[in-house]
Amino acid sequence: MRKESYEFFERYLNNASPVGFEMSGQRLWLDYIEPYVDDYFSDTYGTVVGVINPDADYKVAVEAHADEISWFVSYITSDGLLNVVRNGFTDHQIAPAKRVNIHTKKGIVKGVFAWPSIQIRNRKTDQGLQVSDLAVDCGCDSAKEVEKLGIHVGSVITYEDSFMVMNGKYYTGRGMDNRAGGFIIAEAARMLKEKKKKPKFGVYFINSVQEETGLSGAKMIAQNIKPDVAIVTDVIHDTQHPNYTKALTGDIRCGKGPVLSYAPAVHRNLLQMLIETAKKNKIPYQLKASSEETYTDTEAFAYSNRGVASALISLPLKYMHTTAEIAHKSDIENSIRLFYEFICTLKSGTDFKYLK
Ligand SMILES: [Zn+2]
Repeated sequence: MRKESYEFFERYLNNASPVGFEMSGQRLWLDYIEPYVDDYFSDTYGTVVGVINPDADYKVAVEAHADEISWFVSYITSDGLLNVVRNGFTDHQIAPAKRVNIHTKKGIVKGVFAWPSIQIRNRKTDQGLQVSDLAVDCGCDSAKEVEKLGIHVGSVITYEDSFMVMNGKYYTGRGMDNRAGGFIIAEAARMLKEKKKKPKFGVYFINSVQEETGLSGAKMIAQNIKPDVAIVTDVIHDTQHPNYTKALTGDIRCGKGPVLSYAPAVHRNLLQMLIETAKKNKIPYQLKASSEETYTDTEAFAYSNRGVASALISLPLKYMHTTAEIAHKSDIENSIRLFYEFICTLKSGTDFKYLK
């Protein structure tokens, strides 16, 4: 990986971009992609779009999501502890004793998730841990002290864990879901520019907000852009851990290539074009059958407007929605190549209709 790309990826992952508070990450992403696109814009809720050929009639959406799961302060106790509720589908089981950043107008306030000692607690409760059992200790002894730090109900909380490389080939960090996707599409834009491949259609590189709370950013921007085609990228479970039942989840493994999904929302003609593009360019890929939905922005695009031919390129990921999400370097690189080659292959005006 190019040094500048790697540095951007690290910076982008280490930045906090909680659901609904994505703007600092959007700024980083936009600054990176801007030299590779002709124009850009953002919408009311902060979804950011970099565009190649903004005047073209035929429009291709290339999309990832920018938001990171996190916590909201829900209640401040008289003793100065902060109770929390989820902002996105955050895993409460990993919270105990974790260090956190509480985001305030005055800047970051440090804290830790309170957790009673193993010597004294009733360990029967460990398995039954509820979100309501959690509280953040930010070094205050009263609600008044908490307020003085600028913390209030609705302050957002993220974990501290940062980017790390393991064994030279695995990347781990918070919110790899789906900032890795934002990185992938930005790199595809860079490749197009640097290899002087100018498509004849409009390409809309979209970094959506609020995917984690209902595909909301994608729903809004799909109506705004009205694309003819949409290729979404998101993460997908590596299914090698014994807790997965491969009969249901399939056999997905980090390092074996991006995953192409079959699902009702995934347009088969578009999917077929992706598969052929991968084969022709010797890009490894894995197949997945999604029962009913992909639970990604793919549905948001597919079922928008009057129906948009949509497909999904997924990055295999271990330990999803924890702070130790792990992706394989080669899967990221092969996803970038697949986006790039697909954009080079697609012809303007391609009609994906099943019945013609
Ligand atoms: Zn997610």
